[in-house]
Amino acid sequence: MSTVAVVGLGRMGSRIARRLLDAGYAVIVWNRTPAKAEELAAHGAEPVAMPVDAARRADAVVTMLADAAALQAVTEGTDGIAAGVDDATTVIEMSTVGPPAISRLANALPAGRLLDAPVLGSLPEAEAGKLRIFVGGPDELVAEWTPLLSALGSPLHVGPLGAGAAAKLVANTTLLGTLGVLGEALALADGLGLSRATAFEILASTPLAAQAERRRPSVESGEYPLRFSLSLARKDADLIAEAAAAGGVDLRLLEAVRSWLRDAEEAGLGDADYSAVLARIAGTAL
Ligand code: NAP
Repeated sequence: MSTVAVVGLGRMGSRIARRLLDAGYAVIVWNRTPAKAEELAAHGAEPVAMPVDAARRADAVVTMLADAAALQAVTEGTDGIAAGVDDATTVIEMSTVGPPAISRLANALPAGRLLDAPVLGSLPEAEAGKLRIFVGGPDELVAEWTPLLSALGSPLHVGPLGAGAAAKLVANTTLLGTLGVLGEALALADGLGLSRATAFEILASTPLAAQAERRRPSVESGEYPLRFSLSLARKDADLIAEAAAAGGVDLRLLEAVRSWLRDAEEAGLGDADYSAVLARIAGTAL
């Protein structure tokens, strides 16, 4: 079986590495904060000192970093992944970084050996191997790595390199927009003197029913368990706005939810779960 390196062992990357170990791959790991590799090492992963070492030893390098700057930090330079790959190494980029970061990464790597494969789904889906994976890249390379991606979830080949990153932005505009609309509906109910319980009964009869039911326990308890940080969601809103501007698309709803995320971040909620933006919009003290 192939040797796979996982670079970036945050909430998502650590779970992806664990799935790959459980699927029988030899797994090499690197993280900026080395302590995060310890638990994986106890399960058989092999930590290395630098991203370049991971790339030298692996058939495929999976990257799962916070943002485009982090991706650049681990791929470029003398210690970076690009310095360690050869024509036989595949890089599978799974972070949410947007199409321009994928172009930049492609330029740093040998031609034709990169897949962009960002994911929809969060920590439970990563643990269970049930992520939806939007894959961009050439047919043959996608086919070669579909078994590995299938250990992590359901790959959907959406087009050439960069299409995976674009698909992820399309998916996330719905996640962010839905949360914004839900928050404003709750705020409106408050403002019009309806009780929270009545507001949720009303929402149960609307297109937001499933989302309202899912978020109700958090809104009522004020507890928002951390899966996906609000700062990363704001980063995604920024990526969507940049991509829309580059494509000449006018996204007014996205701009509205982006401003809510910025407000929430400025209010100190950056490290909270992104759904805590509901508390900000609905005016509930956390
Ligand atoms: P996270 O827990 O915050 O982990 C971020 C990772 O990036 C950590 O390994 C961190 O290293 C690393 N990193 C940050 N800045 C770096 C730098 N300058 N140099 C090197 N490494 C750096 O984030 P996550 O939730 O796993 O998310 C990872 C990616 O998946 C993001 O693009 C996110 O948008 C996307 N995503 C997340 C979810 C989710 O539910 N969490 C779902 C779908 C997609 P340290 O440990 O040293 O800080």
